[in-house]
Amino acid sequence: MMRGALLGMSRSSTIKNVVTRAPVTRGVVTRFVAGDSTADAVEATRALAADDLRVTIDHLGEDTTDRGQAARVAVAYVELLGALHTAGLSDRAEVSVKLSALGQYLPQGGEDLALENARTICQAAANAGTTVTLDAEDHTTTDSTLGVLAELRRDFPDTGAVLQAYLRRTEEDCAALAVAGSRVRLCKGAYQEHESVAFSDPHAVDLSYVRCLRVLIDGPGYPMVASHDPRLIAIAADLVTRAGRSRDSYEFQMLYGVRPAEQVRLARLGHTVRIYLPYGDDWYGYLVRRLAERPANLAFFARSLVGR
Ligand code: FAD
Repeated sequence: MMRGALLGMSRSSTIKNVVTRAPVTRGVVTRFVAGDSTADAVEATRALAADDLRVTIDHLGEDTTDRGQAARVAVAYVELLGALHTAGLSDRAEVSVKLSALGQYLPQGGEDLALENARTICQAAANAGTTVTLDAEDHTTTDSTLGVLAELRRDFPDTGAVLQAYLRRTEEDCAALAVAGSRVRLCKGAYQEHESVAFSDPHAVDLSYVRCLRVLIDGPGYPMVASHDPRLIAIAADLVTRAGRSRDSYEFQMLYGVRPAEQVRLARLGHTVRIYLPYGDDWYGYLVRRLAERPANLAFFARSLVGR
């Protein structure tokens, strides 16, 4: 119930206005967000790279219904990719992009606009020698996002996708995307979804995650195992070993600020580990989804709101 209420909050502009203006201590935001600026994102990447971690950087923002704002997000990514290249970090970092931040929700021509903006970002990533992954948002956008992915992959075949194990359709989507050269991040899913389209029982989500993992790991693509769940990480490590996959043919992914010791432990074992690193001032929706994932985070946040 708490998770549902929080996920509802993540899309409320009224609550967003109250929370973002409250004197939230910097600590609660900076645990999950690298900073406001491009320079902050580059510095955080450098620090993670020193621990032998890779990074995928998200310029925070979503649900844009303003063409100008969508274009500004694309420009921010182009600037970031240029800065990573200049800093010599583009072999360590790629970017993660939400199509809703690039205009996908616009009622007239939103998908075309998001595709055009995403193409600009993919070209900048190619120029910098790195890649782009399209984040997954709520299920109403899945078909549109996979359609945009297919278009982008014609010119930028290493563009990655994200699939959410909680959606009932995902096992089939995994089968369709388990092809040579295809980079697929598998996560549990972070949005509020109806029982008709998504598993709500956590155990059913875990079972779906394992079924999807098997499809991706047995296929010829590049699976990106995005979870902090110790059981799923152990199962994935076992499946890649059984499949005889080399260490450069898959990766683990985790969120910035979540289980940092485990991130370093896996990297020291020789696995590729990539950290999802958000930056920017539009942190509200992202932060509330992280709070919804773990009640302990919520207590931490509530204490900071009342200044304790
Ligand atoms: P859970 O069962 O939620 O957690 C397992 C354990 O991990 C918990 O017991 C706890 O110890 C720890 N943990 C998990 N979350 C937190 C947290 N927030 N704070 C502290 N500890 C925590 N979702 C999407 O819908 N679309 C995306 O594009 C997307 N991209 C992602 C990219 C990456 C790299 C990752 C790691 C996740 C992404 N997610 C995305 C979020 C994902 O769907 C889950 O909501 C999130 O990862 C929590 O699920 P879990 O697999 O870690 O398992």
